[in-house]
Amino acid sequence: MSLMMVDYKAKAKPNETSISMARRTLYAVLGFMALICFALFISLRTAPTTASMPIPLQQPVDAEVHTTSTEWLAAVDDDPLPHQAAQSTEDEAAEKETGVWQNVTVQRADTLSRIFHRLGLSTKPVRNLITTNASAKHLDNLKPGQILKIRSIDHQVAELSLTLSAGHTLEAHKTDAGFEVQEKIIPLEKRLAFGKGEIRDSLFSSGKRVGLDQNLLAQLVEIFGWNIDFALDLKPHDTFRVLYEEKCLDGARIKTGAILAAEIVNRGKPYQAVRYTDRSGHTRYFSPDGYGMHQAFLRTPVNFTRISSHFGLRNHPILHKMRQHQGVDYAAPHGAPVQATADGKVVFVGSRGGYGKAIELQHGARYSTFYAHLSRLPGNLRAGSAVKQGQVIGFVGRTGLATNPHLHYEFRVDGIHRNPLTVSLPRKSPIADSQKPQFIAHAKKMIKLLNMHEYKISVAAGDYPLHE
Ligand SMILES: [Zn+2]
Repeated sequence: MSLMMVDYKAKAKPNETSISMARRTLYAVLGFMALICFALFISLRTAPTTASMPIPLQQPVDAEVHTTSTEWLAAVDDDPLPHQAAQSTEDEAAEKETGVWQNVTVQRADTLSRIFHRLGLSTKPVRNLITTNASAKHLDNLKPGQILKIRSIDHQVAELSLTLSAGHTLEAHKTDAGFEVQEKIIPLEKRLAFGKGEIRDSLFSSGKRVGLDQNLLAQLVEIFGWNIDFALDLKPHDTFRVLYEEKCLDGARIKTGAILAAEIVNRGKPYQAVRYTDRSGHTRYFSPDGYGMHQAFLRTPVNFTRISSHFGLRNHPILHKMRQHQGVDYAAPHGAPVQATADGKVVFVGSRGGYGKAIELQHGARYSTFYAHLSRLPGNLRAGSAVKQGQVIGFVGRTGLATNPHLHYEFRVDGIHRNPLTVSLPRKSPIADSQKPQFIAHAKKMIKLLNMHEYKISVAAGDYPLHE
């Protein structure tokens, strides 16, 4: 381009025939130099900013964004690695003093001795190196693909560094007393990242297409699994958006971290979740209005084959009288484990007339559950014992008045029997009132970030509350 411009310049003055050849040449050279300067100036001004350039969080949230997350991820992948300082012309004296660095990629069946030998270095220090301390064992167990950097002076190893994983190196320095070996860990930077997509087939393959890895997808299932059955409920055209942490080194993604906020729209119904660590240090996911994502109660206490008797009025199979059935009967194989449907406390455990072996749990002030006809009760539960949701509290049987193995399950609210299949279950521990304003503010910020979509954002540590 510059040459063309010079041509043009030269042709721009064809009528000035009086100017001597020397002056014309001088003008051409000066013009050329000016053009070079101008081109340099322009290129510096318009040099594209790199994809990993930090974008301050304070940026207005209605900022227009056009890139898609996949473009973003591609852009990040194309990020040039930080430039290795150019080993420019070191003079020989300096080289004698500081030595030379060589980088080696460990090959299959490589040992330290082999590598030293290959590089023409003395293999004498190898024994000393690999017996220095526990960390040095890595040097005796090199793995193909590892990067070994060696500084040597006059064919003697002075220093080496072995990359064990991103940000984790083993470094050895020669001292008067031999080699000093230590592991160094560079903390990975955290970066905010975003991914969004639409369900085409499974969540797994749809997520993978937009750069969400297995870690993030497993988290999504864990967060929303209480509201959405990922095997049955998810439909094509359902959408998901995820704001998550990435762990980076020198701007390159090393691994994905925790989901900070996410949304799934399932059959038109949006579910949102925000990660929050409360003052006592517990990290959980909440809906933006401050309720736990998990339900307080499992819907069913046993893996049943069928419901053999519903809640309500019925002709009792053994007593042959119309009686109110106070619970639901779940037919299940003899010995199938029965789970506590919520965290709680045992209020009764033992035999209770026609109910046979039974256990009753109290959950907070208002709720209680009752499990009957059990074949066996765990020996470690007493009245007053605490139980966790999902804990096995007995095994299906047919003790008491029962014809076939089944679990009789009752659900009471304020002492009144309710149908366990239809009762509206309380949501798990909403955020404490004292922490609610802080949570709501945090949730708003996270949902705003989620809405900034199609965006990959680098944030300096401390710019947003991480709640680790
Ligand atoms: Zn029953």
